[in-house]
Amino acid sequence: MGEMRTLDVLIAGQGAAAYAAALYSARYQLDTLMAAEQFGGETATGGLIENYPGALDVDGFDLMLRFKEQTDALEVPLVSSDLVHVRPEGDAFLCDLEDGSTVRALSVILAIGRERRKLYLPHEDEWVGKGVSYCSTCDAPLYRGKRVAVVGGGSAAVEGAVLIAKYAAQVYLIYRRESFTRPEPVLLRILEQTGNVARLTSTEVTALLGSDEEGLRGICISRPYEGRDSLDVDGLFIEIGADPRTQVARELELELNSATDEVHVNRLMQTNMPGIYAAGDLTDASGALKQTVTAAAQGAVAALSAYTYVSEHPSKLGASTGAAT
Ligand SMILES: Cc1cc2nc3c(=O)[nH]c(=O)nc-3n(C[C@H](O)[C@H](O)[C@H](O)COP(=O)(O)OP(=O)(O)OC[C@H]3O[C@@H](n4cnc5c(N)ncnc54)[C@H](O)[C@@H]3O)c2cc1C
Repeated sequence: MGEMRTLDVLIAGQGAAAYAAALYSARYQLDTLMAAEQFGGETATGGLIENYPGALDVDGFDLMLRFKEQTDALEVPLVSSDLVHVRPEGDAFLCDLEDGSTVRALSVILAIGRERRKLYLPHEDEWVGKGVSYCSTCDAPLYRGKRVAVVGGGSAAVEGAVLIAKYAAQVYLIYRRESFTRPEPVLLRILEQTGNVARLTSTEVTALLGSDEEGLRGICISRPYEGRDSLDVDGLFIEIGADPRTQVARELELELNSATDEVHVNRLMQTNMPGIYAAGDLTDASGALKQTVTAAAQGAVAALSAYTYVSEHPSKLGASTGAAT
């Protein structure tokens, strides 16, 4: 059996952080491989992006295609398979991919983002795209003139309700606590001024009503509203937050942020394990501001850190990895 090739860097992800890391890593002439099954990350499904510098009102999917065009131009290889485990082996890492293959790399950049939180109600998964959505920005226009419920009490839920209210006839904003305290006051003022949003506090969604043919037709609620314990709705937007994908990080015993569970990195995107870097929404690098621009910037920084590490790696002593910034 031939000896396994050792990459300079394996980049896990295909979102903004991963593509930016791959762009910089290729320009640093690192032997790079990207690994992720799904293209584009949350930016690609986020609908219209209005705040990415230099790109006025661009569709998120198109923006990510532009990211990919740049790494394609530099011929960065990509394997369409997720990273499952990373195992330290000597002075390198063995990276097991979902497709059963294993690659060896001197360094790893984790840019695998976050998982949207679910209600875990029966039919929730089957009716995604049939009335159930996790993305107000993407799907709000589908509910023109309809009745829609939004679940959640944070900024994403309130922003989502206000946005959907521009299209829908009636929006029910459902929150399990007594009052909305987490969103910024300016956002709550906009909510108050939005006439077609009813706020149902101390209320939870307890069941989804509908059929596999028709999709969602209504929801049951824990506290009666206008004398009814169910609401007829055409759409349910679940905006209750997201959890960083930390399984690989936990196995590696990387330090996590004790408050947010995100992978803890310093300003160079270094984790507590030499050779392992993290970038984007997976990390605590930019606090609550989790955006395409911050993810991309962190990916670039992580690539520089990987380049510095690899250049000083014992196996590279005497070899040159010329930089071209
Ligand atoms: C609805 C919505 C609208 C948004 N609108 C905006 C906006 O207007 N402007 C803005 O700046 N930001 C917006 N954002 C936020 C922005 O999309 C994120 O901050 C950004 O996508 C984070 O990039 P990332 O690369 O860190 O993670 P992601 O984009 O989540 O990418 C993660 C990547 O990792 C992959 N992956 C997952 N698990 C594995 C694994 N085990 N191995 C390998 N790969 C894996 C995923 O398939 C994906 O390719 C929005 C987000 C949402 C949800």
